Amino acid sequence: MNIAEYRGIWVLAEQREGKLSEVAFELLGGGLKLKAKTGEEVCAVLLGDKVAGLTDELAAYGADKIYLAENHALKQYTNETYAPVLADMVNKYKPSIFLMSGTSMGMDLAPRVAAKVQTGLSAHAVDVDIDKNGHLVTFIPSFGGSVMASISCEKKRPQMSTIPAGFLQKPERKAGKKAVIERVTFEIPKELKTRVVEIFHDEPKSMPLGQAEIVVCGGYGVGGKENWKIVEELAATLNASVGATRPACDEGWASLEEQMVGQSGKTIRPKLYIGVGISGAMHHIIGIKDSKVIVSINIDEKAPITESSDFVAIGDFKNIIPALITELKS
Ligand code: FAD
Repeated sequence: MNIAEYRGIWVLAEQREGKLSEVAFELLGGGLKLKAKTGEEVCAVLLGDKVAGLTDELAAYGADKIYLAENHALKQYTNETYAPVLADMVNKYKPSIFLMSGTSMGMDLAPRVAAKVQTGLSAHAVDVDIDKNGHLVTFIPSFGGSVMASISCEKKRPQMSTIPAGFLQKPERKAGKKAVIERVTFEIPKELKTRVVEIFHDEPKSMPLGQAEIVVCGGYGVGGKENWKIVEELAATLNASVGATRPACDEGWASLEEQMVGQSGKTIRPKLYIGVGISGAMHHIIGIKDSKVIVSINIDEKAPITESSDFVAIGDFKNIIPALITELKS
């Protein structure tokens, strides 16, 4: 592989049902930050069916060029169609950097594309930069956040990374800015093993976490589905939304897709965050640190979350929350 042949900063412009996801704009912001150091053009890669109408918005948010792949088979995302199309595009156009979102789609797609084009991929990055040798460097909290790893891929191209929503800066919109549109020709694999039969939309139980002014977040210390109702009751009393840590989602107490907060979940900035039975691992803290007021309820006074908290209640949440609810209601 001659890495000098690879030029251009690509970002996947993730769209669902013809609507661009917010994280697509954030990735463009990350691309522009890298462009300031490398001078390479920022290219959005847009796959879908009849999505050409989205290109103006991508241009307005900084894309110099847009690779557009339209086909009915790309209407709904499946890795079986998207991954080979993207891998062929990478082999043909040879980008130096390819950023995707840390959403369920990006996390499913990026490793398949990386494997097909035989390059490296860093997952769950919280920031991106260019090092002194001109390589992409991605930053990933590791070992519970005690180490911030800088990861680069020096010998392979493209340099790939997934970045969850909320970490890169959405750029300023420049209305009327134009981009070069490159319509891509490609082949859809003939024998597909999967097809989308129907799409169900889960009705959100409360306001989306990103918009909520108050978020009550539950952790593994909540201890079970039955106890989770205590967390939900506090949230209902405060008219708050309910978030969760990864272990709480893994246990099935909360939705991984909708409610997980942290590095691989959502980044939130509410006026008030209340963490219940949460130790405060960096993977979680990174998603709440910009909350205006942080309150934690923990049985362990030495739990790391206390260091990030404005107010700490030490004790069993099963005693503290019912008393708090009574007080709030009165
Ligand atoms: P624990 O660490 O087990 O903490 C439970 C806490 O509850 C303890 O502090 C305990 O003292 C307290 N407790 C127990 N009983 C009670 C009680 N009765 N009353 C009050 N307090 C009590 N995690 C995330 O949250 N979000 C992410 O996005 C995320 N991404 C990750 C990405 C990677 C690559 C990796 C490796 C990990 C990630 N994690 C993430 C996991 C993260 O490292 C921690 O494991 C996780 O945040 C810990 O969750 P927790 O605080 O709920 O559980």
